[in-house]
Amino acid sequence: MSDRDVNLVLRSTRVITPEGTCAASVSVAAGKIVAVQPYAAQVPAGARLEDFGDDVVLPGLVDTHVHVNDPGRTEWEGFWTATRAAAAGGITTLLDMPLNSLPPTTTVGNLRTKQDVARPKAHVDTGFWGGAIPSNVKDLRPLYDAGVFGFKCFLSPSGVEEFPELDQEQLARSMAEIAGFGGLLIVHAEDPHQLAAAPQESGPKYADFLASRPRDAENTAIEGLIAAAKRHGARVHVLHLSSSDALPPIAAAKREGVRISVESCPHFLTLTAEEVPDGATEFKCCPPIREAENQDALWEGLADGTIDCIVSDHSPCTTDLKTPDFASAWGGISSLQLGLPAIWTEARKRGHTLEDVVRWMSAAPAELAGLDQKGAIEAGRDADFAVLAPDETFTVDPAELHHRNQVTAYAGKTLHGVVRSTWLRGERIVENGTLAEPTGRLLERNI
Ligand SMILES: [Zn+2]
Repeated sequence: MSDRDVNLVLRSTRVITPEGTCAASVSVAAGKIVAVQPYAAQVPAGARLEDFGDDVVLPGLVDTHVHVNDPGRTEWEGFWTATRAAAAGGITTLLDMPLNSLPPTTTVGNLRTKQDVARPKAHVDTGFWGGAIPSNVKDLRPLYDAGVFGFKCFLSPSGVEEFPELDQEQLARSMAEIAGFGGLLIVHAEDPHQLAAAPQESGPKYADFLASRPRDAENTAIEGLIAAAKRHGARVHVLHLSSSDALPPIAAAKREGVRISVESCPHFLTLTAEEVPDGATEFKCCPPIREAENQDALWEGLADGTIDCIVSDHSPCTTDLKTPDFASAWGGISSLQLGLPAIWTEARKRGHTLEDVVRWMSAAPAELAGLDQKGAIEAGRDADFAVLAPDETFTVDPAELHHRNQVTAYAGKTLHGVVRSTWLRGERIVENGTLAEPTGRLLERNI
């Protein structure tokens, strides 16, 4: 590409690049970043200049853990609403989880069904995880060849009957198969025996719910996963880590060279068990939000690199499923649109920088999924950006969220960081909360 092809230059005094934050001009041609130059670089003739002043330009966020539930449970969410919420929150790429939709993404046929549904509705680039369930070992390779980014499995009941968990023998079989073709297994790690042994009190008290999903269930499952990954030489990823007690064994496994990565979520990092009111099941998810002291340790795990990335685990439902009984309410927290300001608000309090946030929420999830064209502002990558006013605050009004259901644990919170605009492959897709028509593409694993 020469200067003549550049059609857009984005300029700001604060552009977050892999080398740090600097005043820069970012040149875009055909939806790709072609150069990152000094702030005052000459704008090529015919190119449009967008100058954001002191607002921060960061790479569009990559959220690899979203339950879109479409088709099948579209009253919970859907590709139209989920991708609009993502775009409004500065996310330009999302990967959909294989369960809670009907069908689940467990065969190539089911994947095609989901892609057909998503294609006309995607406001951001959208890809798919496959699912590993007891009956589909033979489908894993074809799904991988069809472009899924890896495979999700559960070690304890998933909450929906069409997506059963794997027992240890089934886990070994699926893991061996996936390792055989170099794939990635992503795991909901709670041990079913520990869960079964925990006290199961129903009712509105959060403490009872917390006791029913003990840290030991996560710790045991993760230690078993590490052992299995070692045995099979497999690449594994721990989804939604909540128990900080599992950090030392994970760190040790990483030091030993086990191919394991870890994510945590905004709710574990910004909300605490102590603040959950009785009956407030918008705070229910599995594993659960734990104590403040646990949260402090998770932030240490982020700081020292034991936790690689932060993704939403956006798992919405209709209001009526959030009954005040913690035992029977649907488990899942809606936060797709709010992840960036929620994390940034907490991160800045704890002395972290926006560069850290970008690493956790854009670069690292892109790397997890092998999305080489996403996750950084540098020449050759897609021209995906979020423009953020980091010091501005807003108070979360659920009615203003683009989620299909306006239920969220963040209602009434005052957060730092207002997304001014979001850009996908060189086109502005959101400006001050107003969305353009959908131009998201369906992504397949880079083959
Ligand atoms: Zn999830």
